[in-house]
Amino acid sequence: MKLMEEKILQEGQVLSADILKVGSFLNQNIDIKLLAQMADEIARLFADCDVTKILTIEASGIAIAAAAGMRMGADVLFAKKHRTSNVDGAVYSTTVHSFTHGEDYNVVVSKDYLKSTDRVLLVDDFLANGKALTGLMDLVNQAGAELVGVAIAIEKCFTGAGDKFRAQGVRLESLARIESMTEGNIVFRA
Ligand code: 5GP
Repeated sequence: MKLMEEKILQEGQVLSADILKVGSFLNQNIDIKLLAQMADEIARLFADCDVTKILTIEASGIAIAAAAGMRMGADVLFAKKHRTSNVDGAVYSTTVHSFTHGEDYNVVVSKDYLKSTDRVLLVDDFLANGKALTGLMDLVNQAGAELVGVAIAIEKCFTGAGDKFRAQGVRLESLARIESMTEGNIVFRA
C-alpha cells in the first residue's frame, strides 16, 4: 500500500536493528486518513472470505481491527494480555512471548465471544517473529473456529515468519512489507 510505505519512509524511525517506531501515525497518534485507507484495503483483500469476526491482540492492533471491522461489517474481538497464568475455564488462553517487552504473557478471550461457527480474520500492526500470530491462531483452534486469513499492517519480511505462514497455507496479506531496514534506509519488498 503506497500511502503506508510513504508514511514509513517519512515518519518511521528505525530504533535498533529490528524495531521500527511508528508512534506518529499508527502506534500512539493515529493518522485517521491512513487508517481509513488501511481498512479499505483490508476489506478489499478479504472481500471473498465471509469474515464474521476480526480477532486482534491488545493494544496496538485494536484500532486497525476496529476500522477494518466497520468496513467489513464484522465484529471485532481483542485478546487480552495477563501477566499471570491464573485464568478460569470461561476463556480460551495461550502464552505469547512479547517482541517489544521480551517477556511472556498469558493471552485470553472469553469463550462467549469466539464460536466454532466464526470465520476469523486475524489483524495486527506488526509481524516480526510470528509469536503473537501463533498465539491468536491457537485461540481460533481452541474455539474450533475457521481461520480465513491474516491482515498485517507492517510485515518485517527479513524475519522469514510471514513466508513460513504462507508456506503453511495461511492467507497472509501485509499492507507494507519491509525487506531490510537500517537507520535512514528502509527497503520494501516489491
Ligand atoms: P511477533 O509476535 O510477530 O514477534 O511481534 C509482533 C508484535 O510485536 C506486534 O503485535 C507488535 O505490537 C510488536 N512489534 C514487533 N515488531 C515491532 C516493531 O518493529 N515496532 C513496533 N512498534 N512493534 C513491533
